[in-house]
Amino acid sequence: MSGADKQSADMARCEYMREYQNRWLKKRRLTWLKENGPCRQCGSSEQLEVDHIDQSQKVSHRVWSMSKEKQDAELKKCQALCHRCHARKSAIHYRAITTGKPGRSNKLTEVQVLEIFALKDCGETIRSVAMRFCIHHATVIKIWRGITWGWLTGPDSQLKLLAS
Ligand SMILES: [Zn+2]
Repeated sequence: MSGADKQSADMARCEYMREYQNRWLKKRRLTWLKENGPCRQCGSSEQLEVDHIDQSQKVSHRVWSMSKEKQDAELKKCQALCHRCHARKSAIHYRAITTGKPGRSNKLTEVQVLEIFALKDCGETIRSVAMRFCIHHATVIKIWRGITWGWLTGPDSQLKLLAS
């Protein structure tokens, strides 16, 4: 075998290994999503993604290429969310960092209001949202309609911009 042949054979092997590894990582990811799905927020099984429940606890987003031990520890801090809910959550998270304002209401924080607002399009009922946040159902309706906290959820808000 000539030097050039050997080199191309090495490259092909390398390519094969990489592809094999990618497929394996993909399979691991899909298995986890299947076991941990459907979406924790809306119950959808479409386009599931791995979400770090608490962003500040995140070590790395390259969770699938970690060693088994590290991966298990990392995945304990995660939940399955569909693409839609994940994008919304990220937008909410971003918003919370950029403004960092304390809540104007004595019951809810800005982040919670945005969470409630985002749930409007997630197939949640007013009752279930009210129960989850321990608030009156009328408050949920007001937030969803932009009557209270409208400055936060209105057309100029960053959340809308990010979620679109
Ligand atoms: Zn969802």
